[in-house]
Amino acid sequence: MVETAALKDLLAKPKQIVVTTHHKPDGDAMGSALGLYNYLIQKGHHVTVITPTDYPQFFDWMPGNGEVIIYTENTEAANILINKAEIIICTDFNALGRINEMGEVVRQTSAFKIMIDHHLEPEDFDDWRWWNINACASAQLVYEFIADVMQEPQYINKDVASCLYTGIMTDSGSFRFPSTTSSVHRITAALIDAGADNARIHQLVYDNSSESRLRFLGFCLSEKLTILPEYHTAYIAVTHEELERYEIITGDTEGVVNFALSITGIKLAAFIVERTDKIKLSLRSRGEFPANEICKRFFSGGGHRNAAGGSSTDTLAETVEKFKSILPEYKKLLIQ
Ligand code: 5GP
Ligand code: MN
Repeated sequence: MVETAALKDLLAKPKQIVVTTHHKPDGDAMGSALGLYNYLIQKGHHVTVITPTDYPQFFDWMPGNGEVIIYTENTEAANILINKAEIIICTDFNALGRINEMGEVVRQTSAFKIMIDHHLEPEDFDDWRWWNINACASAQLVYEFIADVMQEPQYINKDVASCLYTGIMTDSGSFRFPSTTSSVHRITAALIDAGADNARIHQLVYDNSSESRLRFLGFCLSEKLTILPEYHTAYIAVTHEELERYEIITGDTEGVVNFALSITGIKLAAFIVERTDKIKLSLRSRGEFPANEICKRFFSGGGHRNAAGGSSTDTLAETVEKFKSILPEYKKLLIQ
């Protein structure tokens, strides 16, 4: 690991920089990546944000969005940029598998690699990191990186602030998860002071659904929600046909799992969805229950204790059965 002074030296002169984040980026991924982009361009760096895949259209308003390159849609141009980058910043992920086939391209470059992340168990591919699992969002760490590490809070303008606000808002469940400490609120206040329009951002992200998305949510809650009272668990499993019936696009399934967790007494909630290539699971839990352990042990995934994800190459029905078969082992934790 390189000393922070050397990092500052490196960033003192304009560089070719690629910023990347995990596949199917969420608000924290896009907020952290574009927050860094809007900071670094002010310092004269040549910066490109490359996302491994597409992302929800309700993040399209974010400053710098027009310059983002989506790896799967523009692979050749992205590979050229990655290979000529002097610095690659990886944010909101810490294992190269999280950026799909882009991971190997990034791994083999000689670029200086920076990790800014809040997930458990980081891989060892970086040269410098700002990593803290207690941070409510990677965007909080990007704020600290700019304000405290680089000591350049004056560069947190309206564009940077709007992106970082989005990251903190989305990853903290709109400031309600236990990770939303008083210092998170202080950072958030600084972002609002720097120009982030909190009410507008909330509306752009959360009150921006298509009719079919809302009807899909209704369908999930009335037709697909299954409660397993003896395990304090609720799950929703949807087929590919159901996704097509409701014309579901990237981002439309975001947040559905939280409704299952909002039922009184429910400790573990799962949203299990049949994507084209695999089954994707989103788990949410309350308190000490380790949703990430289940994802890691059984579904080739991971995440945080209370919010984790994974996938399966079995059928949807088999995946649901597997999920249910795991619960007896965790019964004690689930019912305490
Ligand atoms: P979501 O359920 O919203 O897709 O993801 C919840 C959390 O789990 C996020 O913090 C995300 O980074 C993490 N996560 C989701 N899917 C995976 C996965 O396949 N592998 C790992 N390591 N983490 C995941
Ligand atoms: Mn995050």
